[in-house]
Amino acid sequence: MNRAVYPGSFDPITNGHLDIIERASRVFDEVIVAVLVNPNKKGLFEIDERVNLIKKATKHLKNIKVESFSGLLIDFMKSNDIKVIVKGLRAVSDFEYEFQMALMNNKLDPDIETVFMMTSTKYSYLSSSSVKQVAIFGGCIKELVPDNIIKDIIKKIKQNSKNIIDK
Ligand code: ADP
Repeated sequence: MNRAVYPGSFDPITNGHLDIIERASRVFDEVIVAVLVNPNKKGLFEIDERVNLIKKATKHLKNIKVESFSGLLIDFMKSNDIKVIVKGLRAVSDFEYEFQMALMNNKLDPDIETVFMMTSTKYSYLSSSSVKQVAIFGGCIKELVPDNIIKDIIKKIKQNSKNIIDK
């Protein structure tokens, strides 16, 4: 079976991510969306919340699995017997970082290939952090994130700002 992993922070998943997941799901038999646990970067959503939002947003796709991992991506891949990493590329600024990561992963394990998918132009400006910025200030996030998770995102942001005010 031709399997690939699509790693990222997904804090939260956006329509840009979903576009890559849908396209990858047509190329590979199975795609594991892997949420990176980064102890140095807390983020807005807890890891299990991110996993659940991705599951909800991808429930129309049959060949997607969602998991979380900590440590090196190649170790996660080894333990799942996956050889291909899928990455999305938005702008030249993504390229430099992704290029370095792809070479490093290949150095750590020469059997690993990274496959890049170009963003769809309509999502080229979209990132999780810009979605959070818009939502925090009460802007409309429709068309930026999957419709069925909009309420969850707004709820979390309200909760979060309440916690900050209560502190
Ligand atoms: P971010 O926090 O910048 O939105 P992540 O770390 O969650 O991104 O991204 C995971 C992967 O998805 C990366 O390969 C990133 O380049 C890609 N990606 C993120 N947003 C988009 C988008 N709008 N179009 C295409 N790829 C994207």
